[in-house]
Amino acid sequence: MTQTPLKLFNSLTRKLEVFEPVHPGEARVYTCGPTVYNYPHIGNMRAYVFADILGRTLSWKGYKLTHVINITDVGHLTDDADAGEDKMEKMAAERAQSIWDIARHYTEAYWADVKALNIRQPAEWAIATDYIEAMIDFAKSIADQHCYEIDSGLYFDVSTVEDYGRLARAVTEEGEGRIESVEGKRNAADFAIWRKTPPGENRQMEWDSPWGNGAPGWHLECSVMSGKLLGFPFDIHTGGIDHREIHHANEIAQNQAFCGCGSLNVATHSGAKMWMHNNFLVERSGKMSKSAGEFLRLQLLLDKGYHPLAYRMMCLQAHYRGELEFSWAGLEAALTRLKRMVMAAERLADTPSTDAIDHPRFAPILAKFSDAMSDDLNTAIAITALEDALAVKKVDAGIKRAVVEHMDRVLGLDLFNLTRADLRIRPKTTEIDEARIEDALARRKEARAAKDFATSDAIRDELAAMGVEVMDGDPLGWEWKL
Ligand code: AMP
Ligand code: ZN
Repeated sequence: MTQTPLKLFNSLTRKLEVFEPVHPGEARVYTCGPTVYNYPHIGNMRAYVFADILGRTLSWKGYKLTHVINITDVGHLTDDADAGEDKMEKMAAERAQSIWDIARHYTEAYWADVKALNIRQPAEWAIATDYIEAMIDFAKSIADQHCYEIDSGLYFDVSTVEDYGRLARAVTEEGEGRIESVEGKRNAADFAIWRKTPPGENRQMEWDSPWGNGAPGWHLECSVMSGKLLGFPFDIHTGGIDHREIHHANEIAQNQAFCGCGSLNVATHSGAKMWMHNNFLVERSGKMSKSAGEFLRLQLLLDKGYHPLAYRMMCLQAHYRGELEFSWAGLEAALTRLKRMVMAAERLADTPSTDAIDHPRFAPILAKFSDAMSDDLNTAIAITALEDALAVKKVDAGIKRAVVEHMDRVLGLDLFNLTRADLRIRPKTTEIDEARIEDALARRKEARAAKDFATSDAIRDELAAMGVEVMDGDPLGWEWKL
């Protein structure tokens, strides 16, 4: 285990706290996953890059990690105030498709993005519809003391638990932005645990329950799956900053009710010891909103020819708690930085790494790396430590490789599997025959070696006609670009 204690920012206390596991030697983490009614945008993926960095850091620190990410395929409404439609039902109706097909399609699209961004597989993908019975049992156990039934369903009375809304730091009663849109609610902040199918409405997904046919509330599912798979209390619950206001505040209230816990002054009464939130990726023209028609999917970046790990690099250059503004120029800068690192790593390609990483030249670099990651996951500084290590000269290459691998296991930039050719910008719309380009370049090299400049120039023109620019002497080592 590395020595520097791991400090993380706990949204519940708004403080940096030393990570102390509930179960010695273990780390149990739950991450709110996507609602699979549409493709994720790259902002959503920032949340999973963050959770991945947290998981990798805990593994690197020597904890046995159990990470659960859920897939919400039921229950998430179009409106946080419990009045909207179910996002899944709405999309299925719009597309005239089965809800199960919609869920499968977008879950697979999300998993493809997870893989492309080198996000590690969690121990479990918890699919919400697999846990309906457990949700009904959970709801039954808290119904008498904490819930009330009205026409539209079973509601949680937030006045029955202590410190409701502590996470959001909101005034509970006149909770900002809350619309009392459901008739019969006792408090504006009360939320649905079970939503009855309204008479005359046809739902594709509904289940029988003591409160009538219907579907679970979205907050209920995360409480149930996290508690079932990780056991209350577990270590860390993560999500995007928007969840701090309502979703997680409601999960906490349910967890308190379920566990019979009192005040949130006790760390574990919320169900998890720490609640961590990543800030948003923002984009000025509003392309981050899924309702705005075309939005920023990872696939769009790929179509424009960018390697997905350039986006991972972009995320890691910022601290997860700060807002990050997306721009194509920013993405390109991240790509160039990644390329420089890959080129430096390529020099170590044929060297096996040594077992040990102890070496006086690397000790201060490793300390810088460890301090940065231990300081609330400061990846921005950690990347510079990785660059420092790659820049060390006249040192045993095996040790250097071992040091770089050690850091990259935490950052996940995959430096030893990427090649500079992988990182070339290849827009999908351009038809290029790379074999032909490489062949022409090889012929040109021969001609130049033979000082046959007429032939070499002719080949350069031949390439230019294909839209390829030959880049002799480019410091970044691109032999050609489109
Ligand atoms: P959803 O599928 O809407 O439940 O969102 C999936 C995850 O993405 C949640 O953890 C959200 O908090 C997070 N999220 C949503 N928008 C953004 C954004 N623009 N930047 C970063 N995270 C986001
Ligand atoms: Zn959740």
